[in-house]
Amino acid sequence: MTLQQAKELESWVNVPKNSDFPLFNLPLGVFSTTSETVTCGTRIGDSVIDLNALHQLGYFDDLKLPDDVFMQDALNDFISLGKDVHRAWRSKMIALFSKDNATLRDRDEHHKEIFSSVDDVQLMMPVFVQDYTDFYSSKEHATNVGIMFRGKDNALMPNWLHIPVGYHGRASSIVVSGEDIHRPKGQQLTADAEVPAFGPSKMMDFELEMAFITTEGKPLGHRIKVEEAEDYIFGMVVFNDWSARDIQKWEYVPLGPFLGKNFGSSISPWVVTMEALELFRCEGPKQQPEPLPYIQTNKPSAFDIALEVQIQPEQTEPTTVAKSNFKYLYWSMAQQLAHHTVNGCNVSAGDMMASGTISGPTEDAYGSMLELAWKGTKPLQLNDGSERKFILDNDTVIMKAHCERDGFRLGFGEVRSKILPAIDD
Ligand code: CA
Repeated sequence: MTLQQAKELESWVNVPKNSDFPLFNLPLGVFSTTSETVTCGTRIGDSVIDLNALHQLGYFDDLKLPDDVFMQDALNDFISLGKDVHRAWRSKMIALFSKDNATLRDRDEHHKEIFSSVDDVQLMMPVFVQDYTDFYSSKEHATNVGIMFRGKDNALMPNWLHIPVGYHGRASSIVVSGEDIHRPKGQQLTADAEVPAFGPSKMMDFELEMAFITTEGKPLGHRIKVEEAEDYIFGMVVFNDWSARDIQKWEYVPLGPFLGKNFGSSISPWVVTMEALELFRCEGPKQQPEPLPYIQTNKPSAFDIALEVQIQPEQTEPTTVAKSNFKYLYWSMAQQLAHHTVNGCNVSAGDMMASGTISGPTEDAYGSMLELAWKGTKPLQLNDGSERKFILDNDTVIMKAHCERDGFRLGFGEVRSKILPAIDD
């Protein structure tokens, strides 16, 4: 579908102006209703649509889907059916909800079974994440952190321009928007101390990232090639990779991130599919030196997704502290996935791969407090007059993402989570 066709696509379901969720988007998620039914769903405008109800009513009969594929508390079963099924489902949904299609539009008796207002449902974790990998793919972020910790001359490590650097993270602590996170405790070595102290982190930070979710990959030992990598990417979410900088700094040598990272990461609840994002494909940064052939791509593989971070102290309005864009990333998702599997490492449906902090070229486009307040040396001023070097207890961090081209918009909604005081135990 072209941009013009997407713009002209109208639904018989109301879509408010500037909504992230026109009919063309059709993100997937999991929700529970007031009757405590848990089911897979999608969203048009502010209406949440129960996909299991649609399936049981027979609207997907020609797709030959398993009977219980949407009667699930995660999208993994649907994701594992593969891209051909996802595309057939998408075409079916677009047809069914298009303005002139009377099939479901005029069957009022079915509407109460499939529709809920987004205000009346609880959005849940959309996928069961078996494995989580975090990359480090923003050149601006890697350079900023490098300057702070190693000085300007050695900012980028020698491998960085050749390898999409990453590490295996912790899947168990990935939570959905709305779940609060307790400030972690751990060892920290303060600047003038010789031995570490233990206590709540004093350098609580967010990381503005996006994550992609894989489909079922190949058997162990077989790689996913860069030119086929996008066939194995189901969709994306906004990803806040909470980071305790003081814990991280003391522990990371020599094996990398551990307790400073694994106490929580928050994601947006709706998975926006690559089919919806296709219209926003664009060129990424020029890669110099040329990558090795196994991660060379011959088509644009970046996506133009505008990102925003807000901090909202208790009982005040949010302040926007950063605006960045997914297209700034040096390494593309296709390159990340090709690199991840080049040694034969296998991936499963529902695996999550985060981008790394997405910082842009200007100081207002940095994706972490570490960079925005430059290690605490340049505190940010919030709208309520208070200052932040890092995130304080009871601050809520909100991240939003949307795509816009020629007046056509779709988006991810937001991920929001509050930092609660450390648990006293
Ligand atoms: Ca990260």
